[in-house]
Amino acid sequence: MTLAIPHARVSNTPDPRVQHTGPASSTKRPLPSVAGSRLTVPLVDGRRVQYANLDHAASAPCLDEVQDAVNELLPWYASVHRGAGFASQVSTKIYEQARTVVREFVGARRTDEVIFTRNTTDALNLLARALPANTSVIVFDTDHHAALLPWRGPNVHRVTPTAQVERDLDEALAKTPVGPRLVVVTGAANVTGELWPVARLAAVARRHGARVVLDAAQLAPHRPVDVRELDVDYVVLSGHKLYAPFGAGALVGRADWLRAAYPYLVGGGATRQVTERAVSWHLGPERHEAGSPNVVGAHALAVACQTLGQHWDTIIAHEEALLDRLRAGLAGIPGVRQLSIFSDDAPRVGVVSFTVEGHDPGLVAAYLSAEHGIGVRDGAFCAHIAVHRLTGGRALRASLGLGSTAEHVDRLLTALRDLVIHGTDVRYELVDGRFAPVDDPRPLPPFLTARGQ
Ligand code: PLP
Repeated sequence: MTLAIPHARVSNTPDPRVQHTGPASSTKRPLPSVAGSRLTVPLVDGRRVQYANLDHAASAPCLDEVQDAVNELLPWYASVHRGAGFASQVSTKIYEQARTVVREFVGARRTDEVIFTRNTTDALNLLARALPANTSVIVFDTDHHAALLPWRGPNVHRVTPTAQVERDLDEALAKTPVGPRLVVVTGAANVTGELWPVARLAAVARRHGARVVLDAAQLAPHRPVDVRELDVDYVVLSGHKLYAPFGAGALVGRADWLRAAYPYLVGGGATRQVTERAVSWHLGPERHEAGSPNVVGAHALAVACQTLGQHWDTIIAHEEALLDRLRAGLAGIPGVRQLSIFSDDAPRVGVVSFTVEGHDPGLVAAYLSAEHGIGVRDGAFCAHIAVHRLTGGRALRASLGLGSTAEHVDRLLTALRDLVIHGTDVRYELVDGRFAPVDDPRPLPPFLTARGQ
């Protein structure tokens, strides 16, 4: 089903620069494994089943390779940039090497800055603070709140994307005053998984002398990203969506605005010298990284980047097969409507949002968890404008990744079919705003209860 964005019957042809542009040397290898793939969860009827994690778009499970690398690092864990001790030197080296790996992962220019952040939200807020005075910002109103909201002031222009999204951008840029301009482009929509025509939008921005920041939070786990090929100025991403859930993300891009900006965080590490009278700040990435850096997170992110970079062919093939299975299956269930911003046949990553006629998305999500051991997301996915426009309310989202299997997809489809035909087996109530089974008997894991929770 196509969405309800006004005029939005689009033929959004694939952007060849975003899709399948993996390194030429990428050879087919086995799919990287993730932690939790044998996790079992309790059901309301007392059984335990393997957890069907269909919520990769929110936070992806940890790659086994990342977990091993973190375990290997931990004995060496020490202060970064602050100690003469051998372990400190090792930790510092690991941290700085991680910058190089992330730079290569996104195909950044030699002169680009690589700044470690907490996540994509943090990275976009950092960039927002670093914009030169009076920068005009153009952002699409269907974007994730992390991309939509950090920009402040009178020069922020929100554009509603239509079928002719390049024309939309062109018109918006033509109306913005001369001066620094930044266009915010999402790589893959977190609501629908649709791939945005990043390279084509960047070309429009270039014609107007505007810079582009690519929100790759949802794209980078699914497709190679190449800053130079796409011709974007900045890219932001999150480790926890890239199978590296250790609290690091990154902002990569042009150094000039970042070097000229007042530090994002102020404190130790960002300073070159502090006297009674003055402070001088570093010019490089440390300028915006005050405080003890997250070396574990940065290393985890780097290992995830390396691992994904070596497996793109397999990752994409795995996901596309499951996505086809999921979308075809959903299309066969009465009352299920899949959401699209551009069009139903727009190219997309393994993220599918949908509604089930007559069923509250929150209740469906609770039912899938309690009666089938399936994890999906429900609500408006931090993209309220997009989801409200597409549904008038809320939706469900199933998102695929390295932890997904055909059995997970089939279980979801069977459960939804059962729901539509028979309804739920147990009763549900609202508890603190979320649906839960009445008298939920499912036990929490022992390690949690042992800690008194
Ligand atoms: N951008 C997109 C497209 C997203 O999907 C998300 C998270 O879902 C974000 C930004 C924000 O990412 P984070 O919560 O890691 O900061």
